[in-house]
Amino acid sequence: MTVAAMHSPEPLLKPVGVLWGVGSERSAQLARLHIHTVEDLLLHRPRRYEDRRHFRPIASLKLNEGVTTRGTVVAMGIKRFRRGTKSVFELILEDGTARLHCRWWNLPFMERYFEVGNDVVVFGKLNQLKPRTMDHPETEVVEAGEEQFLHFNRWTPVYPLTEGLPQRWLRSLIWRTLNQFEARIKDPLEGDWLASAPGFPQRVPSRAEAIRALHFPDTIEAVETARRRLALDEFVALQMQMRRRRETFESKAEALPCGGDNRLMKPFLSALGFKLTASQTRVLREIRADLRGAHPMRRLLQGDVGSGKTVVAACSALMAVESGYSAAVMAPTEILAEQHYRTLNRWFAPLNVPVELRTGSARIESSRPAAGARVVVGTHALLTSGCEIPRLGLVVIDEQHKFGVAQREQLVRKGRYPHLLIMTATPIPRTLGLTLYGDLDVSTIDAAPPGRGTVRTYVRPADRLERVWAFVRDQLAKGRQAYVVYPRVEDAGTGIKAVTREFEAVQRALAPHAVGLLHGRLPARARDEVMQAFREGRIRVLVATSLIEVGVDVPNATVMVIENAEQFGLAQLHQLRGRIGRGAHESHCILVSDADTDEARARLRVLEETTDGFRIAEADLKFRGPGELLGRQQSGMPDFRFGDLVRDLDLIQWARDAVKRLPCGKA
Ligand code: ADP
Ligand code: MG
Repeated sequence: MTVAAMHSPEPLLKPVGVLWGVGSERSAQLARLHIHTVEDLLLHRPRRYEDRRHFRPIASLKLNEGVTTRGTVVAMGIKRFRRGTKSVFELILEDGTARLHCRWWNLPFMERYFEVGNDVVVFGKLNQLKPRTMDHPETEVVEAGEEQFLHFNRWTPVYPLTEGLPQRWLRSLIWRTLNQFEARIKDPLEGDWLASAPGFPQRVPSRAEAIRALHFPDTIEAVETARRRLALDEFVALQMQMRRRRETFESKAEALPCGGDNRLMKPFLSALGFKLTASQTRVLREIRADLRGAHPMRRLLQGDVGSGKTVVAACSALMAVESGYSAAVMAPTEILAEQHYRTLNRWFAPLNVPVELRTGSARIESSRPAAGARVVVGTHALLTSGCEIPRLGLVVIDEQHKFGVAQREQLVRKGRYPHLLIMTATPIPRTLGLTLYGDLDVSTIDAAPPGRGTVRTYVRPADRLERVWAFVRDQLAKGRQAYVVYPRVEDAGTGIKAVTREFEAVQRALAPHAVGLLHGRLPARARDEVMQAFREGRIRVLVATSLIEVGVDVPNATVMVIENAEQFGLAQLHQLRGRIGRGAHESHCILVSDADTDEARARLRVLEETTDGFRIAEADLKFRGPGELLGRQQSGMPDFRFGDLVRDLDLIQWARDAVKRLPCGKA
């Protein structure tokens, strides 16, 4: 607890120690629940609610049904066995209709909490009928003279606890604190500002009303209304913070004029060999307007795998170069950086635009004279490595959605503020997009270039592998190429297949076709050689880890087999699948999995049903939650107490629009 907080004029920010009955021991226990201030206490979310207006008679309880019941202790005792190393504590309750046996295994100290004659409330499930028995139920002993109205005759909150902290003590504390501080709970924004928020059955409750309903709701439906109200405050606060950041940024960062004059663009587009799609053209118009604008561009470009983002990056780089500024293009891996380098070099060589590759293992300067503006390609380490790029006007970050806002700015805040274009093929669910990228403008390429074959996806059990290989051999015989993907590099004895181990088996299964091996633990040189051979068709099959997930572009590869597919997230599988279907031929993605839960099967089936990246991202979010979806090290991912990124799209959107409409100086 900081000194500032102790003397804070803001009553809700006072430490819990100021509350009656909270000494240093209780304070320490509450701190373990991340409750430090009065406000933290008031926002402590019940983990469930019990309907204690009606207790179920013990005689009416059914097997495996979660219920609240109540009775008087008529007998209790501990049995020890296995020479006293194991024990069971048993409590027998009686409510006039029947008896209930409650048992706790190996928790002998439970005995201390009860006495014969106690009135006890029990929440649990019957796991046996004769006699009626609950194992490890939750209990509360009813004490005489206590605030009965608080613990009974209502929807009663049940809180997350910590060692030594009694449920009823915490409930009473919250009750008293709420009464004491309720009048001090202010809405972050006054007036009927919130009146138009969506999805509230009646009027939008005030923050104070919502907090009361969170703990002591009149109806169980009121809990969800309260949650949404409190979520709204979180979303509004976040959007305000983003707006403020953007305003500060725009007030101090001056844009470099990078709009270009078309003198390189014209010859580039006419030599390209294909026509830009309407989507690509629209996005480029948006980018050009930014590059000519008063503030440095902060734009996210979303486009499904294979939608043609690279050429958009190339055009943007040309605009900068035309204006006399350099551009940096960064990829997440060396393989991808090298691929971009090759593509850009091929495209830009006839225009005499110098292209440079800088990665940990390579520094290749193009032979053309490098006076003035240039294009530098590298990994994400490029900008953190301290290397200077003269007259840097534009930074393109490819296939990256794992940066938090702060990191992102750090990355480009070198000297003057270059324009920033972030490209991602991982469509992020709208809720995440708005919270994570709320401060970015978004462009979307929503149509693939013409002439793409379709990709069919099948989920198959592992015992059908022989037939899968036969199918792959068939496709190889027709001149196609294939990827075979495994979740691991090495076998760690987990039963999950690893590339290094399966490599020979695949070679045998697909003989006589040439098979190559690609994974992250190979030296960069070896990886290069394998990729090159695959690109040139000398290798027909690439056995790989998810290293090939992003960017790799070999149009003749039309088959992908992914073993232990359940080990991957949906978005990742979709990314992997994006490696095929890049040419005119029909492509096939076979997900091999012995997924044994319904959920795992349902998850994979989403990929059979759709190739719409957004639908897949939404499904992934539902199945795995935002943390998993973005990777554990996701920084900049706001930690919501009440906000729910799966369910609250309407609120997030509303908060964003509402904050946008606020007059200057209000945010
Ligand atoms: P991604 O968006 O996944 O990065 P790429 O930029 O790698 O996609 O593009 C995939 C392939 O499509 C490349 O071979 C690229 O040259 C080609 N491509 C891009 N735009 C078009 C277009 N308008 N017409 C035809 N092919 C295109
Ligand atoms: Mg790409």
